[in-house]
Amino acid sequence: MSHPLSWIDEELAALKEAGLYTYIRTIESPQGAWLTVDGKRVLNFCSNNYLGLANHPRLVEAARKAMEQYGVGPGAVRTIAGTMTLHVELERRLAEFKGVEAAITFQSGFAANLATIPAIVGREDVIFSDQLNHASIIDGCRLSRATIVAYPHNDVDALEDLIKEHGSKYRRKLIVTDGVFSMDGDIAPLPRLAELAKRYGCILMVDDAHGEGVLGRGGRGIVDHFDLHGVVDIEVGTMSKAFGVMGGVVAGSRRLVEWLRQRGRPFLFSSAMTVPDVAACLAAIDLLEESTELVDRLWDNARYFKAKMQELGFDTGQSETPITPIMLGEAPLAQEFSRRLFEEGVFAMAIGYPTVPKGAARIRVMPSAAHTREDLDFAIRAFEKVGRELGVLVA
Ligand code: PMP
Repeated sequence: MSHPLSWIDEELAALKEAGLYTYIRTIESPQGAWLTVDGKRVLNFCSNNYLGLANHPRLVEAARKAMEQYGVGPGAVRTIAGTMTLHVELERRLAEFKGVEAAITFQSGFAANLATIPAIVGREDVIFSDQLNHASIIDGCRLSRATIVAYPHNDVDALEDLIKEHGSKYRRKLIVTDGVFSMDGDIAPLPRLAELAKRYGCILMVDDAHGEGVLGRGGRGIVDHFDLHGVVDIEVGTMSKAFGVMGGVVAGSRRLVEWLRQRGRPFLFSSAMTVPDVAACLAAIDLLEESTELVDRLWDNARYFKAKMQELGFDTGQSETPITPIMLGEAPLAQEFSRRLFEEGVFAMAIGYPTVPKGAARIRVMPSAAHTREDLDFAIRAFEKVGRELGVLVA
């Protein structure tokens, strides 16, 4: 009799055959503009380390000092082992930074979504969820057992029709959307979603994972970008991208945060963020509050890179943010492109199904504030060379 897990071998072989198998590179250096990967120096174009904070000396120093004072681990779940002053301080600073009454931290952005959605809606409720929302939103929706109505991406008119059709049958209605869509870099039409939420009495929730440290004044995020303070009910965020560490946050009213402390399952049943993560995150907020220099440099770099790639004839999709997809179509082409770029000294991953729809495979480029102009020019030359070689650029 074959082993009960032997089917996995066939599934893995099928993924490889279809060019959909994800190979994971091993990095031997800190997360910076350049990396050592498998012994080779390559330009880092993959990470969500938007502002170059993941190995910033101020964050490293803050983490080191905090570890000397408090050790490394949080001990256990906060409701059981008590909460450290550091976590309380971080939540206060995050609330202040985002201009809301209160904030609550989680182990990750993924955990923040899993905590929040099932705490807010249940079986008698309905969720209107953008078709391209992040996996953690989708999983949070499923865990809640609410009825899920996926609406066409960023299509507010279609959403309104769906709310009219389904809304009245349920107790509570939740509209949930990514702020910045992580694979395309486009921005949710939050002001129009807020109008709908108000008109139909829906709760409005936005996941700002790719907006924090990027959009708004000094990187205060999508709510600040659209000046919707007090209008968006639930703002989910992550510390794992622009803030350079690992952790998640939900920001909003005092009552929301108090409720999540009582009913957010990853808060109640999983240990808190680690000491170095919390301390480094506090240092990241200090840096952002002191100056907009890093956010400004991120945008300069992103605009420069995108413009040059478009001039060459690459299709950069609909991005309105630093996330720069280079649209290639079929997954095997994207994988080959990524492999050739790596040989040329550029680390940029191919992204295919199921992360993006079939036939919409791409290389997703993440310019950061840590890149220099020379770095970007180096990458542009590599993209041009590989693009010509593989017939993506024809002129
Ligand atoms: N939400 C969105 C929109 C994301 O892009 C991500 C990260 N890919 C997450 C949540 C999860 O964040 P974390 O890595 O902190 O779990």
